[in-house]
Amino acid sequence: MNIKKELFGKTGDNKEVHIFNLQNNNGITVKITNYGGIITYLSAPDREGKFDNIVLGFDSLEEYTSPSYIKGCPYLGAIIGRYANRIANGTFSVEGKQYKLVLNDGPNHLHGGTKGFDKVLWDASEFRSGNLTGLRLDYFSKDMEEGYPGNLNITVIYSLTDQNELKIEYRGQIDKACPVNLTQHSYFNLNSMNSDILGHELYLNADKYTIADDTFIPTGELAHVANTPLDFLNPRKIGERIKMLEIGYDHNFVLNKQEEDELSLAARVTDETTGRILEMYTTEPGVQFYSGNFLNGTFTDAVGIKMNKRYGFCLEAQHYPDSPNKPDFPSSILTPEKKYFQLTVYKFLV
Ligand code: BGC
Repeated sequence: MNIKKELFGKTGDNKEVHIFNLQNNNGITVKITNYGGIITYLSAPDREGKFDNIVLGFDSLEEYTSPSYIKGCPYLGAIIGRYANRIANGTFSVEGKQYKLVLNDGPNHLHGGTKGFDKVLWDASEFRSGNLTGLRLDYFSKDMEEGYPGNLNITVIYSLTDQNELKIEYRGQIDKACPVNLTQHSYFNLNSMNSDILGHELYLNADKYTIADDTFIPTGELAHVANTPLDFLNPRKIGERIKMLEIGYDHNFVLNKQEEDELSLAARVTDETTGRILEMYTTEPGVQFYSGNFLNGTFTDAVGIKMNKRYGFCLEAQHYPDSPNKPDFPSSILTPEKKYFQLTVYKFLV
């Protein structure tokens, strides 16, 4: 168990940004910066015991803050908030009042706005306890920040265990009602970017998905995945049926649960070439499976590999897109009487 803190750079207003290097007793290493809570690097073993990085990321702060990166907005490895995914027309009403948010994705609001939780500096403190090593990140989001009502205190705790799990725990409290929906936006490539992710095999524990319009806003209807390219109830290669979809996978799946809010298996991804397996567990009702369709080779990682189309996939645990405007979806409204809680676990196996 090991944790190291280093300077990663400075923000435009001269604040120090750090990078934390967490390692478990099996040699798994995760690097996380308190700028955006971004996971920049994650090295896990293949079936031969060879360690390699399996997430898309950079090794300098400048690359995460460069104008071309901000313009491309891939949200590599970041914490997303206040509202992950889309809100139709950037508007919603709570307690009889209408709020308007920035439209940063065509006609819609995406991933918390122009300066979401992926671009803010979090207070960070590292810790070790029992068989885990971790990083606690705290952020205070002011009333009306990015147009969202209420003062929100949010804590994200990353911990790496000796069972080869990366746990991400989110807790929050607010003083006015507001939709709150955080997620983690890592792009994984279990073949260490030696190929695209189309050969990876995916199991998704979801009988249904939310039907969406061509701007990715749900119609409100849930549909069965059976007989569609979205059926991953039996493991299938990501690339097998992707051509049947116009853009690729960028869908919200309704996770099968015995009980609401239980921590349960959402997905399992297997890469035959290396033997690496990623499992994901979450308390959230949905997961956005995104196959890296908009990556286009503009960005290059720390070892010179181009982030080409479909060189990474995201499994984003979340409430369904546009929940604030869909009364039948599980509610994402946080009120002063409630506490925000989410737990997502990524487990690395061979
Ligand atoms: C969205 C994609 C988007 C990507 C990067 C994903 O969560 O579903 O549509 O392109 O994030 O912004």
